[in-house]
Amino acid sequence: MHIPSLTIASVREGLLARRFSAAELAAEALRYAGAENPKTNAYLHFCPERATNAAKRVDDRIARGEDPGPLAGVPVAIKDVIVTQGVRTTCGSRLLENYIPPYDATAVSRIEAAGGVILGKTNCDEFAMGSSNENSAFGPVRNPVAPNRVPGGSSGGSAAAVAQGTAVVALGSDTGGSIRQPASFCGVTGVTPTYGRVSRYGLTAFASSLDHIGPFGRSARDAATVLSVIAGRDPRDSTSAEAPVPDYTARLDGDVKGLKLGLPREYLKDLASETGDLIARGVDTLKRLGCEVREISLPATDYAIACYYIIATAEASSNLARYDGVRYTFRSKAAGTLSDMYRRTRGEGFGAECKRRIMLGTYVLSAGYYDAYYLKAQKVRALIARDFSNAFQQVDAIVAPVSPFPAFKLGEKVDDPMAMYLSDIYTITGDLAGIPCMSVPCGATRDGLPVGMQILTRHFDETTMFRLADAFERTQST
Ligand code: GLN
Repeated sequence: MHIPSLTIASVREGLLARRFSAAELAAEALRYAGAENPKTNAYLHFCPERATNAAKRVDDRIARGEDPGPLAGVPVAIKDVIVTQGVRTTCGSRLLENYIPPYDATAVSRIEAAGGVILGKTNCDEFAMGSSNENSAFGPVRNPVAPNRVPGGSSGGSAAAVAQGTAVVALGSDTGGSIRQPASFCGVTGVTPTYGRVSRYGLTAFASSLDHIGPFGRSARDAATVLSVIAGRDPRDSTSAEAPVPDYTARLDGDVKGLKLGLPREYLKDLASETGDLIARGVDTLKRLGCEVREISLPATDYAIACYYIIATAEASSNLARYDGVRYTFRSKAAGTLSDMYRRTRGEGFGAECKRRIMLGTYVLSAGYYDAYYLKAQKVRALIARDFSNAFQQVDAIVAPVSPFPAFKLGEKVDDPMAMYLSDIYTITGDLAGIPCMSVPCGATRDGLPVGMQILTRHFDETTMFRLADAFERTQST
C-alpha cells in the first residue's frame, strides 16, 4: 500500500475489491504519517483511537453489504482550528495547548459520517493569522517540496500533509487566502467555497464574516468530493446557506468549451515574473480547451488589503475576547486580581501577531475612529463585491494568480508584517466578496517551486470552478 499515491477513488476501489480493509489502511496511514512528520511538522497531534474506530465502522458497513460512503476509508487531516470532540484542538496557540473540545465541528462529523478516517490535527498559524505558518506556537511547518521554505499559511499543515502524501485530503480554513495560498506554495489543490456553503459550526472564529472551511486534495476531483460531503445547510450555523448542494463531481468531463473567462487587469499588471509566465501559460491552455478569454477590470482591488486588515482585525479583536483565562484552559500562574489575571493570561498566552491584531482591531472600532476606518472599510468591501458582480455579467469565471511569488524562505518575512500581508493581495478579494475560489497547480518555477492558478466564480457556482480546474488538470498530467 503506497499511501502518497492514493486517491478517494482508489481507496474505495481497494476496499470494495477487498484488497485491504479500512482498518489496515488506517494503521498503515498512521504509521506512515508518524514516520514522515518530523520532516515537515505538518501534524501537531494524531488521533489513532478515533481513526481506528472510524475505520472499523467502514469495515462493518462493507461486511454488512452497505454503501460505506463517499469518503470510505480515506485518510483525512484536519486543521487544528476546527474542533474535534475529545481530541485536542490548539489553534496553534499556547492559550489552547490543552483544550479538549466537548463537540465536533459539523464538517468533521459529516466527514466521518461519509466514511472518512481522521488521522490527526494539522499545524497552523495561531488562530489562523498568518501567511507562512511561522506564527504557530508549536513551531513552523516546512514545505515538503523545499524544506528551507514556508508551506504558506495559515493552513500550512493541511497543505503540507496533502503534498507530502500523508493524507489524501485535508480540511483548512480561509479568511483571507489561507487555503489557496498554501495550496499554491505546496503544489496541491485548495478550495474556498462560497461563504455560507459549509457550516462554520466548530470552526474557531477569527473573522466571522470572512471565515470559510474548505478542502485540500491532490486533484480537483478529490477536493470536489470532499466539498460535496461537507457542504449544505446546518441549523447550528445561522449563516449557512439553504442552497441545494449539487454533486460537484458529476460534470467533471473535461469539456469547458465556450466558457467565458475574465483576466483581471489589476491582478496581472505587476506580475512580470516566473509566476506571471506560468499563469499566462495556464490561460493559453484554457484557450486551447475552447474557453473565450477577455480582459476585465476589478477597480477596487488596490484597496483590498487595507479593507481586509481593518475588517478582519476588528472582528478578531471581538472574537478573541473570549480567551480570558476563565472559560478556556490556559491561565497565567502569576495572576493576582481579576484584571491582572486577564492581562497576564492574554499577555503570556497570545503570540505577537495575535496581539498586533487585537490592538489594531480595537483601535479601528473605538469611538472616534469607527466611522473613519471600520465603516469606510465596510463600504470598500461593498465596492469589491460589486466589481465581481459586474465582472460576472460578462464572464463565467475569473482566472488570476494566487500569490505574487512562490514559497519564500523560512524567516524571510517574519520581521516585516507588511511584506507578509502582501502575500494575500490576490486572495483576500474573493473572501471579501464571499465568492467561491480555488488554487489549482499550474507548474513550477525553474527552482522547482510550485505555482497555483486561481479560479473564481459566481456565488454558489462551485460547479463551473471545479469543471475548469479538472479540465485544466487533465492537460497537466498528459
Ligand atoms: N494571511 C491572512 C491573514 O493573516 C489570511 C489568513 C487566513 O485566511 N486565515 O489574516
